[in-house]
Amino acid sequence: MFPSKEKTEKSAEHLFLNNSQKSWLAYQHGMTQTHQTIYEQFANLSLPYSGISIHDLKEQLDLFSICPEEGRDLSQIIISVGETILKNSIAVHHPNCCAHLHCPPLIPALAAEAMISASNQSMDSWDQSSAATLMEEKLISWLCHLFGYQDDADGVFTSGGTQSNFMGLLLARDQYIKEHFNWNVKKQGLPSNFHQLRILCSTSAHFTVKQSAALLGLGENAVVTIETDEQMRMCLDDLDKKLDILYSQGLAPFALVATAGSTDFGAIDPILACSKRAKHYRMWLHVDAAYGGALLLSDQYKHLLTNIELADSITVDFHKLFYQPISCGAFLLKRAKYFNLMKSNADYLNPEEHEHQGIPDLVAKSIQTTRRFDALKLWISLQAIGRKKFAELLDYTIELAKNTSKLILHDPSLELLNKNPTLNAIVFRYTGKSMVNQLETLNRLNIKIRQNLVNSGKVILAQTKCNGIAYLKLTMLNPLMTIGDVTFILNEVKQIGELLQSRKREDDKNV
Ligand SMILES: *Cc1c(COP(=O)(O)O)cnc(C)c1O
Repeated sequence: MFPSKEKTEKSAEHLFLNNSQKSWLAYQHGMTQTHQTIYEQFANLSLPYSGISIHDLKEQLDLFSICPEEGRDLSQIIISVGETILKNSIAVHHPNCCAHLHCPPLIPALAAEAMISASNQSMDSWDQSSAATLMEEKLISWLCHLFGYQDDADGVFTSGGTQSNFMGLLLARDQYIKEHFNWNVKKQGLPSNFHQLRILCSTSAHFTVKQSAALLGLGENAVVTIETDEQMRMCLDDLDKKLDILYSQGLAPFALVATAGSTDFGAIDPILACSKRAKHYRMWLHVDAAYGGALLLSDQYKHLLTNIELADSITVDFHKLFYQPISCGAFLLKRAKYFNLMKSNADYLNPEEHEHQGIPDLVAKSIQTTRRFDALKLWISLQAIGRKKFAELLDYTIELAKNTSKLILHDPSLELLNKNPTLNAIVFRYTGKSMVNQLETLNRLNIKIRQNLVNSGKVILAQTKCNGIAYLKLTMLNPLMTIGDVTFILNEVKQIGELLQSRKREDDKNV
């Protein structure tokens, strides 16, 4: 017996969006409940985190069955997700949540997300994403021009900076080896002398430079780090010194990574000077503008990225200062032809005749196959917000960071590390009033301050380390954060700091 087609059709109709009334009602029902649950979550929230312990959260989640034999009512499930998962999520829109490069998402982008997932286009072939493919191409072309590239540039949307940095270094490696060793890495793997290859970046470059080196088979030790100056930018004297040393050792530096907005400090490496060195030593210049790329939208700050068009490739993230929901980023390539280095043809996706027929297949430019239509949310956001408003949001957060740095500088119990913040990240620590604090004691104290604040659910801030010293970090992406919020956060830090310090003094006395 064949299964009855009719029966499956009818019993599954409400599970997928289609042209039936049943399907539409089911969709509306699910979305309405979702909106209601999200609304309640946001309306009732006062702190950036519930402060629930790992243990208690685990217990709550253990109550969820994973795959029951029979499905349950969707509304009930959505409500319980609201009560457990949303309620115990980090509220990224809260002004006291300012730890990482983790933005509140724009409402136009949230609307776009609904269309992206409902239409479920896949960017890996024309016959899975026709209009989406053309729209992504249009956005890439706009981005290339925004970054100062010419018509021979190209790019692709990525999952973020990690993937974009990896792609930059992959192409840099394969291009260098092709040119200098007359060797095809894609076909033949690494040449026998690959141990000579070196990548240069500053000590405050993103960790994914080293991660990429490892994934590319070169090993983390292939990354040579350059010291930074007092503004946390790549120090050119040290770059020159290290280049001399590498050459005198017969090594082959093939890529220089300049960071335009370092993750901790928002520092921008000297792009022009880096480009001169790259040209002279025939290295590939990759600029990691994951964080800083958005500056190009601002009349006030775009000069900070002057000469970025000299880069051979560029990383930009939209789920940071373009306020997009995760994930959304792009990789831009100055000379489109280098995409050929990684190009693969799959007979079922992008057969070679497509190229002759002028059918675009984005799969050849990506290390992903199935890929979301994330370009849509950026496009809808740019349309709805407009360049000027984007610039205003950005300018405001940078101004706020500058004012925050002044507050910290004038506070005797706080110490600011990046005296002159370029972007909107502030790195500081609590030192307290006493002058006899040892490094280790203060390190432990600052780490404890952060933990206490997160556990209380009142403030989510980050910690980082620089030259063995533990610091606290405020990443102020949120345009809804005010100087009043900053004052509150700094006071919380100081109060907890004082409390922990006096407790420690008591403990020391009692030993
Ligand atoms: C965030 C960041 C990355 C990593 O990007 P993801 O989007 O998290 O993959 C790389 N470089 C810099 C400078 C970053 O700030």
